Amino acid sequence: MVQSATFAHSNAEGMADVFEGRAPGHVYTRNSNPTTVALESRLAELEGGVGCIATSSGMAALSTVMLGLLRPGDEMLSATGIFGGTVSLFQDILGPFGVRTRLLDAADNDTIRAAVSPATRVIFVETIGNPRMDVPDLSALADIAHASRAVLVVDSTLTTPALVQPGQWGADIVVHSTTKFINGHGTALGGAIIDTGRMEWANGPFDAIARFAEQQGPQGLLAYLRHYAYRDLGGCPAPWNSHQILQGLETLTLRMRVHSDNALRLAEMLSERKDVPWVNYPGLAGTPFHARVNTQFGGLAGGVLTFGLGDQRRAFAFLNALTNARLAANIGETHTLVIHPASTIFHEYAPDERLSMGVTDDMVRVSVGLEPIGEILDDVAQALAASLG
Ligand SMILES: *Cc1c(COP(=O)(O)O)cnc(C)c1O
Repeated sequence: MVQSATFAHSNAEGMADVFEGRAPGHVYTRNSNPTTVALESRLAELEGGVGCIATSSGMAALSTVMLGLLRPGDEMLSATGIFGGTVSLFQDILGPFGVRTRLLDAADNDTIRAAVSPATRVIFVETIGNPRMDVPDLSALADIAHASRAVLVVDSTLTTPALVQPGQWGADIVVHSTTKFINGHGTALGGAIIDTGRMEWANGPFDAIARFAEQQGPQGLLAYLRHYAYRDLGGCPAPWNSHQILQGLETLTLRMRVHSDNALRLAEMLSERKDVPWVNYPGLAGTPFHARVNTQFGGLAGGVLTFGLGDQRRAFAFLNALTNARLAANIGETHTLVIHPASTIFHEYAPDERLSMGVTDDMVRVSVGLEPIGEILDDVAQALAASLG
């Protein structure tokens, strides 16, 4: 673990060589750091990508990618019902800089196909929408994007490389909030950008990246991002956080299996109850996205589910009656975490905006943990009973 801000060099010529990219080495942790490079190598390998840049958070990964790719006048087609911070980045930060984002039902290929215009540069989806829980058809979206020289960027936070390598389905760039399942223990924030190597940059609309790709071949995009957006926005991780996230990676496959198994059991229990009006978990048999879970994610749907309790009053009563699950804004930890999205993550949106993002006032989101499943089910059952009282 190299907890260092800067790196000393033995002579001036060698230092100039590192700065100018003629020799490998580190100069300053905002550009690169050995511990973070170790994390980047592991993530690139797990994703089957050509390389990775680790960032200080999932939002830093998204802002670095989007500010690197997009210019005033460009357009992005984005899934709706995705992470609230991402929507705000697109609308409130990129919007005033002249980048237009359209929030659409990206699980419907025809909707996206019909929305593509000559200004479309990016199609953005989450592998499983958080919290809409919809599952887009990645290879169809990759075809639509590539037919118009646009880039398919996929946020795989809810699935992780344990469930899917989006690059195998045609995605060009994969982003993660490693804060969630990849770290897995709620001990550090982090993010990652993986280049799957699918995108053909030459002779397209991405001039600056094409110039880097000409010189650096498959490392072109990441070299471009590292040289500008990553370095200049300052979204580098603390080395200690990279170390924590590397440790989390050791058990990722094991944990994702148990998270997915436990979430499916909880979803089944909730869907059988008459006092639970609706349950949304794409791993549940007979639900609209179950087939895509089977083909794209090998049958596992991860640890996050949502369900409704009729109104906000009962949702709050349920949350307050839980004894094991913790009320917290994170997902992907060992412990089961619950939240009422409408009054927290999405509180700044008007009720009709929330509805269009799939966030109802009665919605509870559960990040199902690794506790013995009986404990999780008992806790939820007693809180459901208490919420009726
Ligand atoms: C949490 C989350 C993010 C943002 O990640 P941070 O590490 O909190 O910055 C982005 N996308 C998804 C799907 C998330 O769940």
